[in-house]
Amino acid sequence: MDFDGEQFREDRLMDDKLHEECGVMAIYGHPEASKLAYLGLHALQHRGQESAGIASSDGERIHLYKAMGLVADIFNEETLKRVPGPMAIGHTRYSTTGDSALLNAQPIRVECNKGRIAVAHNGNIVNAAEIRKKFEQQGSIFQTTSDTEVIVHLIAQSKEQTLTDSIADALRRIEGAFSVVIVTEKYLFAARDPRGFRPLSMGRIPGVGGRPDTVVFGSETCAFDLINANFERDLKPGELVVVGPGGVKSRFYAPALPQTSCIFEHVYFSRPDSVIFGRPVQASRESMGRTLAREAPVLADIVVPVPDSGVTAAMGYAQESGIPVQFGLIRNHYVGRTFIEPEQRVRDFGVKLKLNPVRSLLKGKRVVLIDDSIVRGTTSKKIVRMVRDAGASEVHVRISCPPTISPCYYGVDTPNREQLIASSKSVEEIREFIGADSLAYLSLEGLRKASGEGDTPMFCTGCYTGSYPTNFVELHDIQPVEVVK
Ligand code: SF4
Repeated sequence: MDFDGEQFREDRLMDDKLHEECGVMAIYGHPEASKLAYLGLHALQHRGQESAGIASSDGERIHLYKAMGLVADIFNEETLKRVPGPMAIGHTRYSTTGDSALLNAQPIRVECNKGRIAVAHNGNIVNAAEIRKKFEQQGSIFQTTSDTEVIVHLIAQSKEQTLTDSIADALRRIEGAFSVVIVTEKYLFAARDPRGFRPLSMGRIPGVGGRPDTVVFGSETCAFDLINANFERDLKPGELVVVGPGGVKSRFYAPALPQTSCIFEHVYFSRPDSVIFGRPVQASRESMGRTLAREAPVLADIVVPVPDSGVTAAMGYAQESGIPVQFGLIRNHYVGRTFIEPEQRVRDFGVKLKLNPVRSLLKGKRVVLIDDSIVRGTTSKKIVRMVRDAGASEVHVRISCPPTISPCYYGVDTPNREQLIASSKSVEEIREFIGADSLAYLSLEGLRKASGEGDTPMFCTGCYTGSYPTNFVELHDIQPVEVVK
């Protein structure tokens, strides 16, 4: 597929959102494993739209097909035939480390002293550069610039005797956020990092006609719905699940550390129809909107979401405030990667391609505009101007999370600190920059509660506080703990 990387980067800047890094799927024990992985990836497309791939095992060989682009464009009957067998893992990607190129697309397949394996992961390994440097000094050759390849080298170089022990050993040596799926000739592995940064769920498709159940793993439960899999449970932080001819086995490769799951999964990344970290995302977002209405009320005529991601919080805000919600901005879902702008430049062209105001709803109205984040502030400014130009008499912006002041090191594509408007400007200065009549953000406490946190902290909030759960230390010295079942 022809792919214009430069334009893609511009598009990313244009939509001014934080981007999720990846989605993973894994299927064990189904004659059409790669088809199910493909469908799952389709449901996870929002987690990465840059490249996608599937690796499968037919019991003897590992097959791989990956390409740049969207899942539906990459896979068809022909390409899916190239990944046969009853086991498959799949990946859809944004790059957070490594160049945005096919070379770094996942899964990554290797043949090493431990056999043939393919690996795909969601997250960011914060000590990958350090490990890589060590290996390179010892003469190892890396084929990609992706941090996933570090896992592969760690597995290959492990002194453990069995593949499962080698994988556990490799996972103990990496630090950061990772939900990993691995396929070998006979086994499927799935694991979450010891802090549980990224989601990873397990499900089952009941077997028919005497066939055993199909075991599935996916970044989000919405992927299970499409393939009729029943959600079983989330993998626990530090857990490694092995699925093979002997059934499903679980062990903890490292002790669970204090849980610091990414709270932004609830704010923006995950789909509202998913259950993430044990809580429906829909419920969290609605609660964020309700809390926001209590914390930052305003006299207004209508609540207008910035579609799509602001919709659920806007419903919550409307319910709590009693102000009716109106879909005053319409999103064009069919915007491709490149667009030719007329020579006479159109003001706010990029945003207008994606959003259009409904003038009849906005004219003369005091509007509460609900969005889920302000990253650089440039897009918010254009949207506020668009709503005003459409006739709104007042525009009050409400954001369903606290100001983003710091970058993410755990697999989310964030700009540099300097480019984050809230890192250097006060809320009042941001209000002035975006041209709103008022601006308010949800409090951190409000966000934590709305996302389901009780008395025990369970979330990373690094991008809102600048305080991170890891010191970027290596975990070389952590020893494994006992098998649980
Ligand atoms: Fe999520 Fe922000 Fe933590 Fe990154 S820094 S893992 S985006 S909460």
